[in-house]
Amino acid sequence: MRKWLRRLFVELGRRVVVPRVSSRVVVLCYHSIHPTGSFRSATPALFSQHLSWLKQHCTIVHLQAAVRAASLSPAGQPVVAITFDDGFADNYEYAFPLLREHGVPATFFLTVGLLERNPVVLERLRTLWGAHASELRPLEWPAVREMQRAGMEVGAHTYSHPNLARLDRRTAELEVRRPKDIMEHRLGVPVRLMAYPFGKPHCDFTRETVDVVSGAGYEYAAAVTWRGIRASDSPFRIPRFTCSGDSVCTLRDQVSGAWDLLGAWQEWAPRGVRWSAKGPPAWWADVVHELGAGGAIGRDVPHGSNLEASRLDGEREGRGQAPEGPAVGLRL
Ligand SMILES: [Zn+2]
Repeated sequence: MRKWLRRLFVELGRRVVVPRVSSRVVVLCYHSIHPTGSFRSATPALFSQHLSWLKQHCTIVHLQAAVRAASLSPAGQPVVAITFDDGFADNYEYAFPLLREHGVPATFFLTVGLLERNPVVLERLRTLWGAHASELRPLEWPAVREMQRAGMEVGAHTYSHPNLARLDRRTAELEVRRPKDIMEHRLGVPVRLMAYPFGKPHCDFTRETVDVVSGAGYEYAAAVTWRGIRASDSPFRIPRFTCSGDSVCTLRDQVSGAWDLLGAWQEWAPRGVRWSAKGPPAWWADVVHELGAGGAIGRDVPHGSNLEASRLDGEREGRGQAPEGPAVGLRL
């Protein structure tokens, strides 16, 4: 069953979806880029391979430009935006030099309580990601400013990285308004972009969350759904592919449309068989593992993927030890 499910999704995608696609706008989501980190999305070498392939076969633009491009249904080369979530120091140390070397832009979504080194937020995130304290190194604000000056976009990723769907409205407002205020103070520019922590529609953000985010003054918000952007998509539900040590072959399948059936499954499958707030069915983990096996780094649960988000949700539901702590550190 696992083999035919994998073939069903990927081969159907390759044979049915890809030949019909005349235009593609795709957003990629990375987290940590590090040679050895336990929760890395890619090693610097793999990320450089991704950039080489993307630069050769795609037009790489900022996230806002990608959303605008989707409404124009561009023909020819796929349009791709590169994003990073969370705000790790390695984004500056490893990803930024490679982005500059290849001459391509990216967007960095910052968990502001992490950058502010709020000790409660640091401990919460260390527990959530199962990281050793020495691994959880936040970006420094001067590094963020340097990346901005070099043409990189920045956006907010809340203050303490909660599941916004589980917060009362007042707390959710604090989680999205406070980081915007802090970033605008620290960086001196309006902050119009945000990314939902974990990112799954219905599970990690809801229609009310979108109201809160738009009411706070954001103009774009990125989610996680494994398909390209459509002209009809709301700018507050931008679909993204998460990278979890995936090979260039997998990247090509994502950009070309072969994974869009997986995105359709995420959005439309009955709640009991797609992943839910209680986590994906066991077979889904095998499918995801198989799909990413070409370049798998060797972790059983990829950081930052929907799969991991579901696992973390499960922990916060009481199966693990991570506390919810929604109002953590909201005083500057
Ligand atoms: Zn995140």
